[in-house]
Amino acid sequence: MKRIGVLTSGGDSPGMNPAVRAVVRKAIFHNIEVFGIYGGYTGLINGNIKQLELGSVGDIIHRGGTMLYSARCEEFKTKEGQQKGIEQLNKLGIEGLVVIGGDGSYRGAKALTEQGYPCVGVPGTIDNDIAGTDYTIGFDTALNTVIDAIDKIRDTATSHERTFIIEVMGRDAGDIALWAGLAGGAETILIPEENYNMEEIAARLKSGHERGKKHSIIVVAEGVCSATEFAKHLKEATNYDTRISVLGHIQRGGSPTAFDRVLASRLGARAVELLLNGKGGRAVGIEKNELVDYDILEIFNRKHKIDMNLFNLSKELSI
Ligand code: ADP
Repeated sequence: MKRIGVLTSGGDSPGMNPAVRAVVRKAIFHNIEVFGIYGGYTGLINGNIKQLELGSVGDIIHRGGTMLYSARCEEFKTKEGQQKGIEQLNKLGIEGLVVIGGDGSYRGAKALTEQGYPCVGVPGTIDNDIAGTDYTIGFDTALNTVIDAIDKIRDTATSHERTFIIEVMGRDAGDIALWAGLAGGAETILIPEENYNMEEIAARLKSGHERGKKHSIIVVAEGVCSATEFAKHLKEATNYDTRISVLGHIQRGGSPTAFDRVLASRLGARAVELLLNGKGGRAVGIEKNELVDYDILEIFNRKHKIDMNLFNLSKELSI
């Protein structure tokens, strides 16, 4: 390969920039030309493509978001849309594509691969919900943002002796809620993977109160229900008044942590290595701190699994 492309797609995540930087620098190191596709699959269809040089990715390693911009593109879900994208790539002689994004973006990369165009997927999402990797790029940063918020809320919860319900992102995967809840010392963590038991939660709050504990933190993943809804249910079950806090999009922003920068650098570079070795149609990841790659056509047969040992530990530590 002499020319490759790179795009970021779907929900942005902190660490996409260092991943783009790694792709560009690694490729140029190996005398390969790199083209940036701006605005995800929309930019691909529209031909919003520019060559990137070493300096194009200077001064971005510490920035959140993505310098290539991101988008959601319905047209790309159709064969015609995908063909338009491939035509744009062929026109410029781009022979392989690195796609940095989440589950939906991987489906786009899979579709291109099925049509004979080699893609490599790099997991970029705060949700940590991609199969074939222990961690996705952006998860660690989002986690630290949430912990920072929990710590601050804990200060006011303690001062006013209140129970706080904090809603965090995670529609299908409870990783953010679980890790942040454990690291933030939450009394209760609600994740979509496990039905909650209101009686158990109420009993735990009550016994805490009886012991003299006057404040509590409950972390709820948005995929379970909204914080408002849970507050209502809790009030019905216990008559406790609570305060709610919905963290929202601040979880997507911010400077990537060292962990995410290193992860993004490793995964971005590995994606380029695979394309150079003629191995398209792969999804890269990290498992037990080793870089791995899987067939992108088969990655959807696997499922990301939340660490239930951590969940059980969180219950033991918050008695
Ligand atoms: P994320 O990558 O963060 O999961 P989305 O689910 O919104 O974000 O997906 C990003 C984009 O990937 C979509 O807007 C669409 O262009 C493309 N995409 C999603 N699903 C498919 C699919 N089944 N086939 C082709 N492209 C898809």
